Amino acid sequence: MSSVSKRYSDIHSRIEAALHRAGRPPGSVGVIGVTKYVTKERAKEAVEAGITHLGENRPDGLLEKEEALASSVVWHYIGQLQSRKVKEVAGVMDMLHALDRHSLAKELEKRLPDGDTLDCFVQVNVSGEASKSGLAPEEVEDFIRSLGSYEKLRIRGLMTMAPAVQNPEDARPFFRELRKIRDDVKSLNLSHAPCTELSMGMSNDFEVAVEEGAAWVRLGSSLVGPT
Ligand SMILES: *Cc1c(COP(=O)(O)O)cnc(C)c1O
Repeated sequence: MSSVSKRYSDIHSRIEAALHRAGRPPGSVGVIGVTKYVTKERAKEAVEAGITHLGENRPDGLLEKEEALASSVVWHYIGQLQSRKVKEVAGVMDMLHALDRHSLAKELEKRLPDGDTLDCFVQVNVSGEASKSGLAPEEVEDFIRSLGSYEKLRIRGLMTMAPAVQNPEDARPFFRELRKIRDDVKSLNLSHAPCTELSMGMSNDFEVAVEEGAAWVRLGSSLVGPT
């Protein structure tokens, strides 16, 4: 397993090249190092390599690594979040990429510290695969409108996972579709939902996601390992 900093520099170049191809400004994508497969030591190596945004998909993983690492890390919760687990992570995560139902919004509103606002991405199941969570595209607008009553939630954007495809090019229509839904929601000008950003792109498809407008890519295996 090569060092995280070497991988990070390769990935950084590939992201910048994709931004250039798409006519987007340099440096306009945030990299979230997904540490769910690796030890806290390896996560520490990622932070030392300059990766300040880390992502976890289980409450236990988030809590374990948050305790072990510097407080300068910005923590992204990227997985399914059970309502009964919200109280464990509410004050720890900085952004949530998997807001997909009212019961979760309600529990977050109840458990977030008073005065806090949580930046959320609404997860959309663009491909419609039964194995994936998230709202159907046609449900997104009504769902986001209805979140206006939750004072502690701010809808920063939309998140999706593309299907696992051999050729990353085949993921493009799903990213493009998410961008279109984002444009529609953004044009509503809702004060609780600026909805400007897209969280999309993983190890095998991030360059295509960047070309299609990703603000955040979530990289596990290609960046921190294990492979
Ligand atoms: C695991 C995971 C990732 C990272 O996957 P890689 O293919 O290893 O980069 C990204 N997003 C979510 C939601 C994940 O669960």
